Amino acid sequence: MPELPDRLDVLAVAPHPDDLEILCGGTIAKLIKQGYRVGMADLTSGEPTPRGSLETRKREAEAARVALGSPLRINVELPNRVLMDSPENRFKLATVFRTYRPGILIVGAGRTPAASPDHHQGHLLGEAARFYSQLTKWDERFAGTAPYRVPHLVYCPFPFDAEQRNWHSTFVVDISDTIEQKFEAIRVYESQFDAERFERVKHMVGSANGYAGARCGFRYGELFALPHPVGAPDLVTLVHGSKPTAPPDVPIGQGHLPMG
Ligand SMILES: [Zn+2]
Repeated sequence: MPELPDRLDVLAVAPHPDDLEILCGGTIAKLIKQGYRVGMADLTSGEPTPRGSLETRKREAEAARVALGSPLRINVELPNRVLMDSPENRFKLATVFRTYRPGILIVGAGRTPAASPDHHQGHLLGEAARFYSQLTKWDERFAGTAPYRVPHLVYCPFPFDAEQRNWHSTFVVDISDTIEQKFEAIRVYESQFDAERFERVKHMVGSANGYAGARCGFRYGELFALPHPVGAPDLVTLVHGSKPTAPPDVPIGQGHLPMG
């Protein structure tokens, strides 16, 4: 049996280098600041693209990893542009889960008809590989790794999803303190975003994060969803934790924004 690395608290998975930065870069940076062991997994190289190359993309992904402070970024080396939720690809991704044994799996989710179809396939692959990861009597399909059940699955919705999702539950992580790290981690993908395009992406991402955050009383936030309702052992803790509450000495009407 091969020697296994330390378990991860969180593993975030998306098809292309730059997806995770745009989707949940602020949360990744925040989790790392909070002391959690976080890994990033890109399913493909992201190449070919019009102005990129394998070497450039690798260098940019590494620069983004450093910008977010992430200790681990792996590439699953599945094919870009033709990524499919196939049995072979499920085996490869499940092998990553069995190797790093994350407590929480974050998967980019949704269908993006105006962008790469890989995004939807990555969503399906993440769910399927999570299921495969726990299966017994198939160790030879997973490089001899032992079965591992990933306890929690969290969706990170792609912007411009073709559908209005009715997730069982959604929540927003306050990324006000890490939004600049997120922007920097996107900016380093210069082969994908020249200065003008980066400004547009920054505006779009900043606006989406500003809106998501504002709904919960944060300056910036990233939206996540669960495939089940949120279980709460304590209603008060859950509600208090979900948004900042004005302290009692703040005069009525001055503690909240209208949308807070
Ligand atoms: Zn992408």
